Amino acid sequence: MFDRSTGGALTPLSVVIDQVLGPVRALIEGRPTLMFGTNSYLGLNFEESCVEAATEALRRFGAGSTASRVASGNQKLHVDLEKAVAALYGRSDAIVFSTGFMANLGAIGGLVREGDAIALDAHCHASIFDACRLSGAKVATFRHNDAADLQRVMAASGVAPARTLVVTEGVYSVLGDVADLPAIVAVTRGSGAVLLVDEAHSLGLYGAHARGVAEAQGVEDDVDVIVGTFSKSVGVVGGYCVTSDRAFRTLRFAARPYLYTASLPPPVVAAAHRAIDLIRDDASRRDKAWRNARAFHAGLVALGLPPSAPPGPVGAVRMPGIKPGLDMWRALLTAGVYVNMLIPPATPNGEVVLRYSVSAAHEPEDIETALAVIGRSARAVGIPLREPAPAGA
Ligand code: PMP
Repeated sequence: MFDRSTGGALTPLSVVIDQVLGPVRALIEGRPTLMFGTNSYLGLNFEESCVEAATEALRRFGAGSTASRVASGNQKLHVDLEKAVAALYGRSDAIVFSTGFMANLGAIGGLVREGDAIALDAHCHASIFDACRLSGAKVATFRHNDAADLQRVMAASGVAPARTLVVTEGVYSVLGDVADLPAIVAVTRGSGAVLLVDEAHSLGLYGAHARGVAEAQGVEDDVDVIVGTFSKSVGVVGGYCVTSDRAFRTLRFAARPYLYTASLPPPVVAAAHRAIDLIRDDASRRDKAWRNARAFHAGLVALGLPPSAPPGPVGAVRMPGIKPGLDMWRALLTAGVYVNMLIPPATPNGEVVLRYSVSAAHEPEDIETALAVIGRSARAVGIPLREPAPAGA
């Protein structure tokens, strides 16, 4: 029942952050640590104006809402945040949930009925899998990022496309690879199927208005529902879904994780709103996050540890097994660099990866320091290094 196999050794589940010193800095076991495993892609959890907005809301409206949206937890702050999210996406409706996990439970559970079908990408997040299981629909996965396989799954389901929900992500959270939405849309467009894309890791980073991968790939009009979270680039907690489809106006009243849980606390809502405004108005953090992401990716390639996807805010380096992965992860942590170690079932294909995230809050020196520590640690624990490809190859 309990896993005691680690015998008290340092594992990803046992790390305690003693003090958070900023978006990418913390004290862990007394050591100043550079965080390359947070989702604070834009550093907005410590952005002065977000903290001020939260502080003011805390004083004016209190620490918690103490009720769900349909009870007494529907405050003007929540409604205004929904308007800001809908406006950011240029869509008519937005619903705010208390977490991104709940946004998937609520949106997927509210959209489908028993007898409907769901086709989801095999690499989707656990919240999407759980939402599909709970929905009572007929659920089938299609091969990761494989539109032809989506077509096969839809044809084999025995359910009309018009009663089928297709679910993908914009950026996949484990390996950091990006969905091929135009290919997915080529299958769903005109079929009557509803397409939902989770942009949890792409809000604030992809697309001319920072709305995510659907915007960056020019297919927003073919995506019926977008789900996202406030816990990453927005820097707080909470989730949302947006749509312009009039048929989904009732979603709010069908989504149990909206109806039956307390709404977000006022300080969180105020900070999220300010962060959404900054994402809309100020591209400087996004540009810096991308510069850092490219520099970190290039550095890893040069070290012989090429990430498994092109540069992006989140990425992963494959490890040759659990033991070497854990040795490498421990070596990094004890040298003051924090990354995430992920093992199955959190990873696809039974892989062990060290996942990292890069933030606008990193400085070029942070990237250099982390890369130097990664190179030293890999050599110390014997992680095989690949020869960098010759220039021009
Ligand atoms: N969707 C995806 C793709 C995610 O990666 C995550 C969190 N890692 C979630 C949803 C859940 O978001 P939250 O942590 O805000 O509940």
